Amino acid sequence: MLRLFKRTAPQRDPQEFHVSHGADSYRIALKRVAGATRFTIRVRSATRDVVLTIPLRGSLTAAQDFAQRHAAWIGARMSRLPKPIPFHPDETIPFEGAPHLLQHDPDARGTVWLGATADGRPALCVAGDARHVHRRVSDFLKREARKRLEQSVKRHCAKINVKARDVTLRDTTSRWGSCSASGGLNFSWRLIMAPPHVLDYLAAHEVAHLIHMNHSDEFWALTRKLSSDVDRAEAWLKAHGASLHRYGARSAGDVD
Ligand SMILES: [Zn+2]
Repeated sequence: MLRLFKRTAPQRDPQEFHVSHGADSYRIALKRVAGATRFTIRVRSATRDVVLTIPLRGSLTAAQDFAQRHAAWIGARMSRLPKPIPFHPDETIPFEGAPHLLQHDPDARGTVWLGATADGRPALCVAGDARHVHRRVSDFLKREARKRLEQSVKRHCAKINVKARDVTLRDTTSRWGSCSASGGLNFSWRLIMAPPHVLDYLAAHEVAHLIHMNHSDEFWALTRKLSSDVDRAEAWLKAHGASLHRYGARSAGDVD
């Protein structure tokens, strides 16, 4: 007897789905993990996203039910996260480690410049239409980040006679910098919000990777030769690094 088994193509998981709790809705990213034995939910403070991990062969429906049952818990965790701060007039953001008021001056000439408030506090002054403040501030921060990172990379490279192929900027959440096999160095533009010694340490760290593509003792010895701030900067990143991700989320009304 010939038996025909109906084979269905394996169903593709959605990358994300939503659960609701009261009036709020939360976006859940779905991740199948080979070693996972049960469903787990993680709320990542850096990116404010919720990740649901499910075993490789776990049921999608059961996983979604699980997330929905934990919607109240997700909501409680989300409400305890630091509030996101947009690049909008009168918000305060860190620039080179110091709080700066975003001072909107619609009639001024120019784009963005460093200034001071009437009572003498540091400010980032922004000219032009209010809807463009977000873009102007983020362009300014990226430009300044690039300038300072390029300077630091050049200085550290000269000390040990190496060359970086190029310096690129991204908005990464998993790491602050990286070094490719072909000698390209990549950094998070958010480092411009950290104190200067932190940005400079990250540049030294990635330059040291041009020689040692690992975190061996030799690597750390070289990094310490380039930067005297290794421990201080690592401690700062551990304590405050994640908070840099709360700034500058684009919101409705912002125009590019
Ligand atoms: Zn490294």
